[in-house]
Amino acid sequence: MERTQPNVEYLQEHGPATLEELPGSQITTHNKMEGVTTFDPHTGAFGRQSTQVYYLFEDHDPAAVVARWLKANESQLEDTPRRIIVRTAGSVSDEFGDAARELLPEEGEDSPFSHGEITETECPRCEDWSGPSNRLAKHLTECEG
Ligand SMILES: [Zn+2]
Repeated sequence: MERTQPNVEYLQEHGPATLEELPGSQITTHNKMEGVTTFDPHTGAFGRQSTQVYYLFEDHDPAAVVARWLKANESQLEDTPRRIIVRTAGSVSDEFGDAARELLPEEGEDSPFSHGEITETECPRCEDWSGPSNRLAKHLTECEG
């Protein structure tokens, strides 16, 4: 049994991630014992399974998890009404539903991704990046700070 946990280290460094991004090809039982948790809401409401996001239960806010999940499923979710996305995230727990509600713009927009409340923001982790807030989640997946 390996003593280092590359998946756990990756998540600690980079925040919530998809399986594709993780250095391990799977989540092991040991990873789960280390706190690796799957965000995998039931997505029957919009047809097919979404891309799962893995995170550390102790370390990561629901907002970070939901932001990564929205990004990972952007093409699938962009035509889905906000209330469905909020309900889907909320099926995992209320705090995820609340996070989705805060991340997505009000009902009535054509696409939840095309018009949010976008502000200029800086990376909380490195000094090198600033940009529109809707790009921060993406940057955090690549951030080396
Ligand atoms: Zn950064």
